[in-house]
Amino acid sequence: MSQTMILPGATLGVLGGGQLGRMFIHAAQSMGYNTVVLDPDDASPAGLVSHDHIQTAYLDPAGLAELSDRCAAITTEFENVPASALQALSLKCPVSPSAASVAIAQDRVAEKAHFVACAAKGGADAITVAPYAVIETAAQVAAVSSDLLPGILKTARMGYDGKGQIRVKTQAELTNAFAELGGVTCVLEKMLPLKAEYSVILARGRDGQVVHFPPQLNVHVDGILATTSVYEGNMPENSGKAGVKRAIDAAISIATELQYVGVLCVELFLLHDDSLVVNEIAPRPHNSGHYTIDACDVSQFELQVRTLCGLPLTQPRQHSPAIMLNILGDVWFPNGASQAQTPPWDQILALPGAHLHLYGKKDAKKGRKMGHLTLTGATVEAVKATTAKAAAILGIAKY
Ligand code: ATP
Ligand code: MG
Repeated sequence: MSQTMILPGATLGVLGGGQLGRMFIHAAQSMGYNTVVLDPDDASPAGLVSHDHIQTAYLDPAGLAELSDRCAAITTEFENVPASALQALSLKCPVSPSAASVAIAQDRVAEKAHFVACAAKGGADAITVAPYAVIETAAQVAAVSSDLLPGILKTARMGYDGKGQIRVKTQAELTNAFAELGGVTCVLEKMLPLKAEYSVILARGRDGQVVHFPPQLNVHVDGILATTSVYEGNMPENSGKAGVKRAIDAAISIATELQYVGVLCVELFLLHDDSLVVNEIAPRPHNSGHYTIDACDVSQFELQVRTLCGLPLTQPRQHSPAIMLNILGDVWFPNGASQAQTPPWDQILALPGAHLHLYGKKDAKKGRKMGHLTLTGATVEAVKATTAKAAAILGIAKY
C-alpha cells in the first residue's frame, strides 16, 4: 500500500473503542484529522468522541470494508483485536502496527521466542526472560522442571490485567491450574524476586527512526496498574543510569527486530540483584504512558498519529516530574458504599498540577478503569505531596 505521508485533513481509523482509542482520537483531532472508530459498543469511550463510529464486531467483513474505504490509514488500540482483522485491512490501506507484530504480542509463546531470538542476536544485554516452559499437554505438566516452581501459569493468549494467570507452588497445584485455565496453551514462568517494575514506551517510524520516553516505574495492585512514577532517579541507585540505558536499549532492540512501526510498550522487571528481565510487550500506547499527555512535549498518542501517518518523529522531552494514579470504579464506592457516588472532583481540581482524565464510561464498577489523574509539578517532592493528597481525597489506600 502507498507509503506517502498522510497529512492533517485526512481521515484516520482505529480498531477498538476503549480509552486508548479515545486518547488517540483526541490527539488526531487536535492535529486536524478526521476520525472513525470501529467498535461494537454504542457507548465506547472512543466512539463517543470520534467524528464517526462504525458499530460492528471487530471481524465483521462489512464493518471492516467500510472502515478501510473511509480511512487513509488505520491503527488499533486494543491488543486482543484479531490480527486477521488487521491483515484484511492492510490489503486496502496502510495499517500500523502490522498484523504480524500484533500477532506476536498477542501470543506469549511467540512473544517469548522473539525475546529469546533478540538475546541470541547479541543485542542489548538487558534482554533476558524469566525461565519458562510452554505447556500444552498433561505430559508437559508432568515433565516440568522443579526449577520453574514456584511459578506463574499464564494463558498464551487473551490475558490482561493479571487475568488468565494462576500462581503455583507445587506440581499438584500446576496440574489443577492447567485444568482451571481450560487446558489451553500456557506458559509457566518461574516466579522472580521483583524489586520493581518498569515500562519503556517508544515510537518507531516507517523509516526505522526510534524515539522513546524514559523508564516508567509502575506499581500494580491486585494485578491492575495503580500508579506510574516518572522522574529522574525513579530507578534505584545501583541500577541508576546504567539501568536506564539497558532498559531503553532492550526496548529498541525488541522493536527493531520486529521491524515494528507504531508505538510499543515494553514491560520490564528489576530484580533484587539489579538485573533487568523483559516481561511482555504491548503493541500500542500503554496505561503507564498516560502521563506523557501532561508531562511531555509530545504524548504517546501524538506519536501514534505521527507513526501512522509517516510524519517526522521528535525525541520527547519530559518537562515536569509526574505521577499518574489510575482511577478505578472503586473510587465511586467509598467506605463500602453500596450505591455509586460521584467522587469529589472539585477537591481534586483544587490541587495544583492535577490533570483529570475521565473516559466517559457510564457505570462505575470495581476494578474498571474509569480514568486517570496525572500530577505534575516543579519538583519531585511537590508532585509526591500532591499525589498523596489526591490519593487521600479519592480514598486510594495503597499509594
Ligand atoms: P497487563 O496486561 O496488565 O500488563 P498481564 O495480565 O498481561 O498484565 P503480566 O504482565 O504477565 O500479565 O503479569 C502481571 C503481573 O504479575 C506483573 O506486572 C508482575 O507484577 C507479576 N508477574 C508476572 N510475571 C511474573 C514473574 N515471572 N515473576 C514475578 N512476578 C510476575
Ligand atoms: Mg503486564
